[in-house]
Amino acid sequence: MDLARARILITNDDGVHASGLKALERIACQLSEDVWVVAPATEQSAASHSLTIARPLRVRRNAERWYAVDGTPTDSVLIAVNQVMKDRRPDLVLSGVNRGGNLGEDVTYSGTIAAAMEGTLLGIPSIALSQLAAVDAPTKWGTAERWAPGVIRKLVAAGWPEGVLINLNFPDVPADEVRGVRVCAQGRRKLGSALIERHDPRGKPYYWIDAARDEDATLAGTDLNAVSAGAVSVTPLYLDLTHRPTLQTLAGLFP
Ligand code: MN
Repeated sequence: MDLARARILITNDDGVHASGLKALERIACQLSEDVWVVAPATEQSAASHSLTIARPLRVRRNAERWYAVDGTPTDSVLIAVNQVMKDRRPDLVLSGVNRGGNLGEDVTYSGTIAAAMEGTLLGIPSIALSQLAAVDAPTKWGTAERWAPGVIRKLVAAGWPEGVLINLNFPDVPADEVRGVRVCAQGRRKLGSALIERHDPRGKPYYWIDAARDEDATLAGTDLNAVSAGAVSVTPLYLDLTHRPTLQTLAGLFP
C-alpha cells in the first residue's frame, strides 16, 4: 500500500464529536490527504461488535467526507465501505483514538476494536488506537498524535496477514517521556466483580457496572505491562477465536 495515496477511513466508538476522533483526524492527515470520517453519532463505548438490525440506520453528512451514523461502530464501517465510499473502498481503517486503554480482556467489549474487526472482515487492513487516560485528568492526545504516524507507517510498510488486526495503546505519559514501542500479547484485565447498587427515588434498586478492573500489569510481554512501563503497545489480534490445543484435546474425546 502506498500510504501517501491511500484512502483512509477513520471511525471510533466515542462518537463523531469526540476529541479523540479529532486527534485521529490529525494523525491520518499526516499520512494521506484522502481521509474520510464515518463514525457513530453518539457514544458507543462497550458496544463491542454489535450490528443494528431491528431498526433502520440514518446517515447524516455534515461536511465533505464527514458522516455521522446513528448506530454502532460496526454499522459505521459497513455503511462507510458499502455506501458512503462504495465508488472506491478505503485502503486502511483507523479506529479511535479511544479515550482510555483497550488492554487485555477490554478488547472483547470494545467498540473501538470492533470497528477494526469489521474492517478486517471486509478485507481492509485495520488498526485500533487507544490513549490511556486517568479518569479525572485531561487526556494526553499529544502522545498518540506524536507516536501513531511513525508506528502506522512502519506497520503498513511491513503489512500483516488477513484476519489479523492491530491494536495500539499509547501510555498515559507526555509524548517526550514515551519509552519506545513494544510488540506484545493481549494481557489479563478482567472486569471487576463489583456492581454498584443504588436506589431510585421510589426506593427500587438499580445497578452500575463498576469501572474497576482486576488486572495484572506485571505479566511480561503483555500490553498492560508495556503501557505501565511507559511504552506504546502493538498487539496483533486474530479473528479466528479457535483455541488450537483444546481443539486437539477435544478431538480425542470424539474419535
Ligand atoms: Mn470508547
